[in-house]
Amino acid sequence: MRLKEVRRRCRKTISRLDIPEPFDLQELCRRIAASRGRPIDLVPTVMPLHGPTGVWIATSGRDYILYEQNTVTLHQEHIIVHELGHLLDDHGGTGLLTSDIARLLLPDLDGQMVSRVLGRTAYSDEQELIAETIATMILEAVNRWKPLSEWEAPASGAGARHRIHLTVEPSTERWPQ
Ligand SMILES: [Zn+2]
Repeated sequence: MRLKEVRRRCRKTISRLDIPEPFDLQELCRRIAASRGRPIDLVPTVMPLHGPTGVWIATSGRDYILYEQNTVTLHQEHIIVHELGHLLDDHGGTGLLTSDIARLLLPDLDGQMVSRVLGRTAYSDEQELIAETIATMILEAVNRWKPLSEWEAPASGAGARHRIHLTVEPSTERWPQ
């Protein structure tokens, strides 16, 4: 798919969203969940050191978005809207994480059927591009409505800023962003 087509596809996806104004990520997730008829749980998690910073887990009845808890809000929002990008474009077809990893990430799921566990690494480059384009478009739309000052990272967040950099810049690390 060419970049132009990716953008068109993502714009179409975004146009179907009821993005709350002023922006509220929890509320956006609630509205998406309502339209899909499947609850979305946002779960702050200590993600594995060299693993993804976010993961979407689809079970038979609910969607879970796990996101790194030890980073600034700005980065967490980016992680979550990126995972929403995968969810909205229905990237359900490719590789699976094992249920062992799912249980490690989400102990509450123990005993519950995990039908699909999707990590960033499981997607094709094209799916990553689509998810990231959706994330960028949502955040761009939000930025038009929200004072930029609210997006500033705290001065103490040097480590977090490094991680933001890893997310924003094309990464050569083992886990593609
Ligand atoms: Zn991704």
